[in-house]
Amino acid sequence: MKIPFLDLKSVNEPYEDEIKSAIERVVDSGWYLLGSEVEDFEKEYSNFIGVDNTIGVASGLDALRIILRAYIELGVMNEGDEVIVPANTFIASILAILDARLKPVLVEPDIKTYNIDPDLIEEKITSKTKAIMIVHLYGQNACNEKIAGLCRKFNLKLIEDAAQAHGAYYQEKRIGSLGGAAAFSFYPGKNLGALGDAGAICTNDDQLEEVCRALGNYGFEKKYHNRYQGYNSRLDDMQAAILRVKLKGLDGDNQKRREVAHSYLQNIQNDQIILPKLSTSALTSKNHVWHLFVIRTEKRTSFINHLKKAGIQTLIHYPIPPHKQKGYAELHNLSLPVTEKIHEEVLSLPISPAMTQYEVEKVVQVINEIQ
Ligand SMILES: *Cc1c(COP(=O)(O)O)cnc(C)c1O
Repeated sequence: MKIPFLDLKSVNEPYEDEIKSAIERVVDSGWYLLGSEVEDFEKEYSNFIGVDNTIGVASGLDALRIILRAYIELGVMNEGDEVIVPANTFIASILAILDARLKPVLVEPDIKTYNIDPDLIEEKITSKTKAIMIVHLYGQNACNEKIAGLCRKFNLKLIEDAAQAHGAYYQEKRIGSLGGAAAFSFYPGKNLGALGDAGAICTNDDQLEEVCRALGNYGFEKKYHNRYQGYNSRLDDMQAAILRVKLKGLDGDNQKRREVAHSYLQNIQNDQIILPKLSTSALTSKNHVWHLFVIRTEKRTSFINHLKKAGIQTLIHYPIPPHKQKGYAELHNLSLPVTEKIHEEVLSLPISPAMTQYEVEKVVQVINEIQ
C-alpha cells in the first residue's frame, strides 16, 4: 500500500457532489469573474475570520503584493522602506516585499516553533521599518504579545501571511484578523484549497480595502477609470463557488488534521527525530491547524529512503532557504545559521483530513522502526 504525501482527490471527495453542483450553477449563471459567488464568498469568509472585509484575488502571492502596494498608495509606506519577515518562510512572503520595492529584513525563527523569533525583532527595527510580516508557518499561530507590543510601540503595521493557517486561532481571534491586513492562499493543497489558484485579503481597514479592491482589478476606481496602475488579479466565480462549499467543512477538516497530528505526537518514538512543538501547551489547542507536520532529523536522507521503501511519500518544506536562492542575489550575504540548520533537517510527513487511522499507524510504525 502506498501512502502519498497528500491525496487531493480524497481530500475533495466528501465535497464532490456539492462542488459539481456549484460549478453547474456558475456555468448556468453566465457570469464568471467578480460576480455574486465571489461577493457571497467574501461575505462568508469575512464572517468566518471575523473581519469587516475580504477581497478575493488570484493567488496568495498577489494578496501579499496588493496589501503592500495598497499601503504604498496610501502613503503608509514608501519605496525602500523595510518590512521585517521570518528568514525561513516560503519564498512568496519575501518576493512580495521585493516586488513592492520594499526591503525585506530577514529575522531568524525560533528553532522550537519555526515561527519568527519574537526576541530578535526589536534589534532589527530602524527608522525605515514600516511593518512586521508574520508568517503562521506550517499552520501554527506566530503572533504573541511581544510582537503586538512592538507594532504599537514603533507604529508598525502587522501584516499576516496566513497562507498556511486558515481557521487557526490566536487567543479568541482567528488568524487573519490580528493586524492591519492578512493574505490567504487557496492553492489546492492548502487547508482551504480551491481547484486552481485563488487567494484573498482580509482587513478591518476600510480605506485599505478600497485600494486593494481597485488594485486587484487594474486599478479601476470605476470601470475604465484608472485611479492606480494596478494588477489583473481577480477571483473567479468558479473558484469562489467551490470555496463556499469547502469553507463549511474547514473547521471539521482542521479537526481531522489535529487528530492525525496528535496521533503522530503521541505515538512516534525515535530518538533521532525532533517532533514539532506547540507554542501553547494544550494538545487540543486551536492555535495550530497542521497544514504540515514537520519533523527534524540529522539523518534526513536515511529517513526519506526508509519511508519511501515502505511506500510512504515525504516532502521537504523547504530545501533551500530564501537567502540562498539563485534569483535572490540581494540576500546572499546574510548569515542565518538557525534558518540554514532548519532547511537542512526538516522533513514533512503525510497529513490531511483524508488520512485513515490505518495510514497514520503505518507511518508511526515505520518511523519507530528506523534505526
Ligand atoms: C502558499 C503560500 C503563499 C503563496 O500562495 P500562492 O497562492 O501559491 O501564491 C504565500 N505564503 C506562504 C507561507 C505560503 O505557504
